[in-house]
Amino acid sequence: MSHSSLSALVQEARTTGTLSGLPDGHLINGLRLPSQNGGRMETIDPGTGKAFATFAAGDAADIDAAVAAAQAALTGPWRALTPAQRGRLLLQIATLIRSHGERLAVVESLDSGKTLTEALGDIAGAAATFEYYAGACDKHHGDSIPLGENYLAYTINEPVGVTAHIIPWNYPLSSAARGIAPALAAGCTVVAKPAEQTPLTALMLADICLEAGLPPGVCNVVTGTGRQAGAALVRHPGVHHISFTGSVPTGIDVMQGAAPNVTRLVLELGGKSPVVVLADCDIDAAVSNVLGGIYENAGQICSAGSRLVIDRTIHADFVERLVKRASAMTLGHGLRRPDMGAVNSLPHLEKIAGYVERARARGVSVRCGGQRTSDPETGQGWFYQPTILDQLTPDDEAIREEIFGPVLCVQTFSDLDEAVALANGTDFGLVAGIFTRDFSRAHQLARRIDAGQVYINEYFAGGVSVPFGGNRKSGFGREKGLEALRSYSKLKSVAARISCPEPP
Ligand code: NAD
Repeated sequence: MSHSSLSALVQEARTTGTLSGLPDGHLINGLRLPSQNGGRMETIDPGTGKAFATFAAGDAADIDAAVAAAQAALTGPWRALTPAQRGRLLLQIATLIRSHGERLAVVESLDSGKTLTEALGDIAGAAATFEYYAGACDKHHGDSIPLGENYLAYTINEPVGVTAHIIPWNYPLSSAARGIAPALAAGCTVVAKPAEQTPLTALMLADICLEAGLPPGVCNVVTGTGRQAGAALVRHPGVHHISFTGSVPTGIDVMQGAAPNVTRLVLELGGKSPVVVLADCDIDAAVSNVLGGIYENAGQICSAGSRLVIDRTIHADFVERLVKRASAMTLGHGLRRPDMGAVNSLPHLEKIAGYVERARARGVSVRCGGQRTSDPETGQGWFYQPTILDQLTPDDEAIREEIFGPVLCVQTFSDLDEAVALANGTDFGLVAGIFTRDFSRAHQLARRIDAGQVYINEYFAGGVSVPFGGNRKSGFGREKGLEALRSYSKLKSVAARISCPEPP
């Protein structure tokens, strides 16, 4: 990968509409390869709506080759490394992510539509993920179990084997890192399938893994559609673990695909997460957090705070403040660093617009936004205004379903019991936010809300060390933290009778 300054990269992308030197083939067994069927696809810049690169469209044959490479790598030099040596390789990957960070960020912004500021944050987060798991490699130890003096019993964490990673388009590099780093730390090998909308930074990460010295075949990336490449990967009998992030219907299909081989899996399927705001909170801080929780990445975040559940007595003033700030947000091509970038694809934009149009037709109060728009400088691209739907009932479609866009849905409560009922009132259980100065009530709410992660007084608080994952239709299993290492390990228990000399 070449090194150029951030401003030179942005200049090149803005003048030519693309970047030179983008990866264009699968990365299998250390080699950049075309699809065996010769297929190719285009990837589109959502900020312009125009294709800016092509990539290999793989299918079952390419998946077969990648899984075979990952299987072979399990028994090669990778296995001979000590955990501390693996840790040093992961640290080198983190260092290279940082040194190629500006190029990665510009590619991520072009491919996904997110702002360059957000992309730079994602790249820093991906490097931090590799650093965290680098340090964990030689600390992921088993236990010894006391059975008395005639026995020795202990547990060992063994790598689960070949791991498959199906990656979404909303956080392409950071989702890839979130799964690949702990899998490598645990001693596994990897076949990743990035989303067809955003294939490039996963390929660049695979290049970085090679540059860092990872043996060929340890980290493979096959690009292509979910239907052709993704479905073949999750159904492959040579895969021992699947990490899937995406929609509920696809998650169900992945689960069914995994069943015949009894393949282990972690499913991260999104949410409709509540932000519960009590009347005694720091209002200014809560307003900023609610805005960040829904408009970050144009709302395309599984853990977006997409429902504001607010005390009736402060609702009017609070929503007024939100409307004022949301209406002032700037939209535009991600590389110009506006407040909010583009929505990832045209079908997704249409899906978001459909939710708001149907809400409007039902008589829901649309307090701001509610329209598709375009880049004000070029008139191009796929954008949706920051939108607030007010006073929704618990059974409303906009409350029950994940819109996955910049649409905040507001519900009000009169007491804590009602707040809990509303917070738990969807099929999802991914995350929840709580804003109050009363820590006793904050922790009561944290206990009573069904979510995999709860943020108190800072939405998105935490980081790579804090386990993350959902309950109910948000999926199961946990990523991040030491918990993720356990996902990529098979626990073996050994119990032995040992002879002890008879006491004199
Ligand atoms: P999706 O679930 O279809 O795609 C996610 C990933 O799965 C992509 O890599 C895709 O290629 C792959 N995939 C698709 N079908 C597959 C199959 N049958 N077998 C294996 N892999 C397959 O998501 P989408 O269509 O891109 O987005 C639709 C909705 O999903 C969004 O509107 C949003 O609600 C949700 N979503 C959630 C997240 C999240 O972080 N939880 C991320 C992306 C999308």
